[in-house]
Amino acid sequence: MPFTFPHFGSLKYVFKVLLNELGRFDLIMPTKPNKKTAQLGAIHSPEFICTPFKITLGTFIEGLERGATELGMGGCNAYCRFGYYWPVQKLILEDLGYDFKFIALNYESPKEIIQVIKKEISPDLNLLQIIRAFRIMWLKNRLTDLVDKLIYKYRAIETTKGSTERVAQKAFNMIVELKGIRNIKRSTRTLPQMFENEIDYDKKANPLKVCVNGEIYVVLEPSLNLDIMKRLNEIGVHVETPISLGRYIDVGVKLNPFKKFHSQHSVAAAKPYVEHRCGGETQENLGDVIMYKKEGWDGIIHLYPFTCMPEIISRSIFPQLSKKYDMPVMSLVLDEQTAEAGLQTRLEAFIDLLARKRDANGN
Ligand code: SF4
Repeated sequence: MPFTFPHFGSLKYVFKVLLNELGRFDLIMPTKPNKKTAQLGAIHSPEFICTPFKITLGTFIEGLERGATELGMGGCNAYCRFGYYWPVQKLILEDLGYDFKFIALNYESPKEIIQVIKKEISPDLNLLQIIRAFRIMWLKNRLTDLVDKLIYKYRAIETTKGSTERVAQKAFNMIVELKGIRNIKRSTRTLPQMFENEIDYDKKANPLKVCVNGEIYVVLEPSLNLDIMKRLNEIGVHVETPISLGRYIDVGVKLNPFKKFHSQHSVAAAKPYVEHRCGGETQENLGDVIMYKKEGWDGIIHLYPFTCMPEIISRSIFPQLSKKYDMPVMSLVLDEQTAEAGLQTRLEAFIDLLARKRDANGN
C-alpha cells in the first residue's frame, strides 16, 4: 500500500524519518510542487479556498497518479480552514474516482495519533516503539530547522555560489541516515561546524538581517513562496524564520519548564494587540515585530496565502506595530498566480529601504 504525503519544504525529510521509524518504507516521496501541481489543485478546489489547500490537493493527485494508495495529512480542530482540509480533500478525490485510504493525524491529540497509527499505519508496533519514532522525528526536526537556519545565513555571504546548497544537501541526507539518539543530539554541534568549515564566505560581511514570518505553509514551502529565502540571500540578505513545525511536535521542549519556543515569547508580546488565538500564526507574527526589533534585526517580511483569514488580521495590525516599534514590515500575499518579476521588484525595493535606514542610523 504505497504511502504519500504533501510536500512541505525540508519537512519532507522529517516525515520520511517518522514513517521509516514506524516501519513504513513503501513511500512515494512527494515531488516539489510546480505550476502544473498548483493548477491541478486549483481546478478541483473551491474557488476561494486558501492556496495551501490547492497545492496539497495537487500534490495528492500527483501522488495517486504515481501509484500511492494511502495519503497522510496533519489535521486539527483549527480556528481557520485547516480543520476542513483533509475531509474536503478526501471528498474531492473520491469524486474524482481515486481509490485510496486517507490517514489524518490530529496533532492536537497525542492519544488519537497513537490510536490512528496503531490502526492504520503500523499495527505491529507497540506503544513504546511509536513514542520512540516520534521522539526521533522531533529530534531530527530540530536538525532540519538548524540546517535551514544555517542555509539562510551562509548563502547570503558565500563567496562560491552554490557551495551552501551543496553542504546543506549533504547535511539533509546525513540527518535522514543518522542512527541513535546520541548521534542525533551530537549533530546539533557538528552541523554548524560543517557549514563553518566547508563554506568559503566573506568573514567581514555585515549583511542586513530580515525575519520572514507568516502562515506556516507559505513560509516553509519554497514552491509557494517562489524561493523567497534564496532570493533574499542572493541579494546579500541574512534571513531567519521563527516558523517551525517544532512547536507542534517537539514534546521535549513542550515538557521542559526551562525551555521556550521563540513563538511563545512572541505570543506573549502580542497579547496587548490580539489577546486570543485566532488561527494561523497571527499572534506569533505580530509579536515577532517586537521580539526581532529587540534582537537587532532590520525588518520583517510577512507572507500569507491568498484568502488566508488569520493573516489578514495580522496584516491589518502590522502598520500600528511597525510605527510604534520603528520596525519596517512588508506583507506579501502569495498564490499560484504570483509573478516572479513583481515579487523580486518588491523585495529589492524593501531591502533598499532597509539599507538606507541602516545608513541613516549610522550602523
Ligand atoms: S492559516 Fe490561512 S492559509 Fe493556513 S489553513 Fe488557515 S486560513 Fe488557510
